[in-house]
Amino acid sequence: MRATFMYGAGDVRVIDVPDPTLQQPTDALVRVVQTCICGSDLHPYHGMPATAKGTSMGHEFLGIVEEAGSDVSTVKAGDVVVAPFAWQDNTCDYCREGLQTSCRNGGFWNSSGVGGGQAEAVRVPLADGTLVKLPVAADSALLASLLTLSDVLGTGHHAALRAGVDPRTTVTVIGDGAVGLLAVLSAKRLGAEQIILMGRHKDRTDLGREFGATDVVAERGPEGIAKVRELTRGDGTHAVLECVGHLPAYGQALGVVRPGGTISRVGVPQYDDAHIGWNLFGPNITLTGGPAPVRNYIEELMPDILDGKIEPGRVFDRTISLEDTPDGYRAMDQREALKVLVQP
Ligand SMILES: [Zn+2]
Repeated sequence: MRATFMYGAGDVRVIDVPDPTLQQPTDALVRVVQTCICGSDLHPYHGMPATAKGTSMGHEFLGIVEEAGSDVSTVKAGDVVVAPFAWQDNTCDYCREGLQTSCRNGGFWNSSGVGGGQAEAVRVPLADGTLVKLPVAADSALLASLLTLSDVLGTGHHAALRAGVDPRTTVTVIGDGAVGLLAVLSAKRLGAEQIILMGRHKDRTDLGREFGATDVVAERGPEGIAKVRELTRGDGTHAVLECVGHLPAYGQALGVVRPGGTISRVGVPQYDDAHIGWNLFGPNITLTGGPAPVRNYIEELMPDILDGKIEPGRVFDRTISLEDTPDGYRAMDQREALKVLVQP
């Protein structure tokens, strides 16, 4: 089959690899119908050291079950399913606590001998705990929105949940990528009335307004912080959803959080050292966030998509074939595309 591999910064290729096969009775094989490129795929696209072997890519996909192992009971051949960006048993103590990304038996795509979603097919370990059946046909117009259950919608939702967003909280979202825009949508869905979106790309922040942003701040750094404070009577907001992952975004979060508030990070941090001294301690700021246990959120978020209450699939502004995946990375890297949908 064909699959996307990265061999180093800026070096993405679609290559021939052996077809995946069932290896455990708990596995399922999924033929990918839709997958996509993630903002977090751009981190290795910028910094991955060159390797001869390369690594498979993609962690967001939905598709059709082609074959299910003998121990799989929740999905069967022909089912349309979505996979979260991590696989898990969904039964261990961490999973029952809603922290599936820490599953005792789980893991992440593109590691431990498991391939990636940017391919024609994927072997899914622990299929009962990982895959969720979608009550739609494989050509449903809702597929793009349902694909966001794999990662970006669940990640935006996680950012808002971790920050305690509710109708009484004011919110700042940092970042106008797909996760930032869906963090806006999630904050709105949880009832927040004031949602300030910090982002510089007008077409993106316009979509953010449609998703529920009440204010947009295009400035960054001290200027951006001053603007947010102006909009909040000098206080900053209760919740700050940091959806970028670079150090300046964390600095911005510190600058706009209200005393007693929460900074929730879902952008994968590209730094290890950051200020956590008096500027967190003095105003009683909580710092939280991490990889979203999106498996925990699929059943809650899916009905809103099926009912047409939310349309998270609007973050996809380009659709390409699997063979064009390298160009999809380029387009996202150059900010030509917000989020690229891939149809193998
Ligand atoms: Zn588990």
